[in-house]
Amino acid sequence: MKCKICKEDAIIYLPSHNLALCEQHFFDFCKRRVQKAIKRYNLLDEGEKILVALSGGKDSLTLAYLLKELGYKIEGYYIDLGIEEYSERSKEKVLNFADRYGIKVHIEQVKELFWGYSIPQIAYITRRPACSVCGHIKRYLMNRFGYENGFSALATGHNLDDEVGVLFGNIINWKMGYLGRQSPLLPSTNRKLLKKVKPLVLCGEREIAAFALTYGIDYIEMECPHVKGSTYLYNKGLINRLEEKSPGSKLRFYQGFLENKHLFKEEDVDLKECEVCGYPTTSRICTFCNIRRKIKERIKGQT
Ligand SMILES: [Zn+2]
Ligand SMILES: [Zn+2]
Repeated sequence: MKCKICKEDAIIYLPSHNLALCEQHFFDFCKRRVQKAIKRYNLLDEGEKILVALSGGKDSLTLAYLLKELGYKIEGYYIDLGIEEYSERSKEKVLNFADRYGIKVHIEQVKELFWGYSIPQIAYITRRPACSVCGHIKRYLMNRFGYENGFSALATGHNLDDEVGVLFGNIINWKMGYLGRQSPLLPSTNRKLLKKVKPLVLCGEREIAAFALTYGIDYIEMECPHVKGSTYLYNKGLINRLEEKSPGSKLRFYQGFLENKHLFKEEDVDLKECEVCGYPTTSRICTFCNIRRKIKERIKGQT
């Protein structure tokens, strides 16, 4: 197989684009995909201070690498969730990456903020699914850190496969509110809420993995142990079978959705300030503060 552009030996074939590329042109291709998403969906302005959420996985590290390569001003942010081996290994990958590419990275620890409790323990005490607790805490902390440190945008590594998986789930269950909100760009609707962007939405998971491998980005392959067996992962498998049979389906499905997004009305949310922390929430006390209150009650009950 030869590269379509320079006719040198290709290192990858991309069925969804019917394109074989050599090492150099694959690099340019990935860079252009990110640039295209940023321009098309109006994600970032030049000179903007961007906080990149780093998990240690291929997506977030590749995102940071490519944003830096494209000349954006980025710093990284990592949350130590306290999920034993997974957290230790992912933190190591993030620190090595940051060191190697000269990216400043900020670290916060769930255990420090929750009196020694980790995500699995917090999930158990609050009787919530671990992924839901984890999602709430992560979103809250990333936003708070970004706001307090003068960042205007929070970038996450959600890729095309992630977005298609979520979209599929939302359509199967006709979650109109979620469909109205699903977007590579969530503008800031409150001065204490950062704009949230997903510059990798036009890049498939396979492309990102190949990119990380080809350019020596060392990432953690282990998935969070709590994600196993979720419907979301099952859906991803189904979609991959469809993509195999009909390459380009994922991209058509997702881009078609974004083109027709006006059909799904965004729900109006009435934001108030949390009575405890002052950050925007839809209820009197935000979920983060509610979780903290439950943990505090538990500690009191034990003494
Ligand atoms: Zn080439
Ligand atoms: Zn609060």
